[in-house]
Amino acid sequence: QSRRLEGVDKNIWVEFVKLAATYSTVNLGQVTALSGENHMLHQYTRAFGHPPLVKILAQLFEKLLGQELDPMTNVMVTVGAYQALFCCFQAFVDEGDEVIIIEPFFDCYEQMVTMAGGTPVFVPLRPKAPENGKMMSSADWKLDSAELASKFNERTKAIVLNSPNNPLGKVFSRGELELIADLCVKHDVLCISDEVYEWLVYDGKEHIRIASLPGMWDRTVIIGSAGKTFSATGWKVGWTVGPNRLLQHIRTVHQNSVYHCATAAQEAVAQGFQRELMLYGKPDSYFVQLPKELQKKRDWLVQSLDAAGMKPIIPEGTYFLLADISNFKSDVPDVPNSDEPYDSRFAKWMVKNKGLAAIPLSAFYCGAHKNNYSHFIRFCFVRLGVIIRGGLVV
Ligand code: PMP
Repeated sequence: QSRRLEGVDKNIWVEFVKLAATYSTVNLGQVTALSGENHMLHQYTRAFGHPPLVKILAQLFEKLLGQELDPMTNVMVTVGAYQALFCCFQAFVDEGDEVIIIEPFFDCYEQMVTMAGGTPVFVPLRPKAPENGKMMSSADWKLDSAELASKFNERTKAIVLNSPNNPLGKVFSRGELELIADLCVKHDVLCISDEVYEWLVYDGKEHIRIASLPGMWDRTVIIGSAGKTFSATGWKVGWTVGPNRLLQHIRTVHQNSVYHCATAAQEAVAQGFQRELMLYGKPDSYFVQLPKELQKKRDWLVQSLDAAGMKPIIPEGTYFLLADISNFKSDVPDVPNSDEPYDSRFAKWMVKNKGLAAIPLSAFYCGAHKNNYSHFIRFCFVRLGVIIRGGLVV
């Protein structure tokens, strides 16, 4: 628990909504939709998550993690995974605390750690050249175990893990997760596990949840996103799953910031999961269909980029794909005395001259490392076929 939470954990609304729900009184001050009936969807629901949604999430994650969960204390709904991340850093990080971030990383981690007064400590995934003639895969980007271990010390509060990783598409292997888990246990460090792309894994690969490794449940907060899970990013429904000893502090941040997420969106997501749970593992399941569809789009994009002279890195997961743009150096005019990375200049040139949008990889590195990784751009293939030309889909 961070110091900013001291003395701010009580909340009158939380207390009285709970009482009203327990005793089924008519709450005239604040109409709530605890029952999930249609006409109630315009009203407030439970602050920490609409009951039908936290219940179905608990049921699903019990299956995925192989352990019992209490929907009221082990699950909390957020406004997208973004708010879940923000709550985590505010809940646990104090001035002087260090948080390890694996590069390349989803950009907001760095700023959110800094906003919480913490110091981000970066450790890069290092690319290894693939065997002769083979295309590079996101699996060729690896953590150096000694380098990772050297980042842990007595100031380390947490490590952020994002598997499958945005922007690289890397799906961390069991061995890599065990390495991280062992260091977390050894140094008593929390793991903030951003798993928003958990269902987007290709080529029969398995997404392994670090919380299921020995010693990790008690120190991990799993973060997920309905936006990514159901390809409906505008809904902004996310969640945290973890032990009550951690989630209680996340609830304190939530009740003092957002307090409540849109009821109708939560109900819709709950219904989506109810259907998925019924179809779990069957061919009609969206979680089975979606990666199948996306894998085709991935393969098409890999072929097209390869034919165009860019060297794609085949992602094992997510709907992002990095491509090496070194071959295009002569197309983009040099800007003397500019410290803007080449990939950023290239991406701007490409959108202006070719109508094709992509994000420079350097945007996913800290300031000091940007220029070490500035010859890749990130494409998004989730809506390939819908948007053929132009249109930034991020
Ligand atoms: N984490 C990662 C790795 C993401 O890529 C995104 C969205 N791009 C988020 C979190 C935020 O998800 P949401 O839209 O549910 O807030």
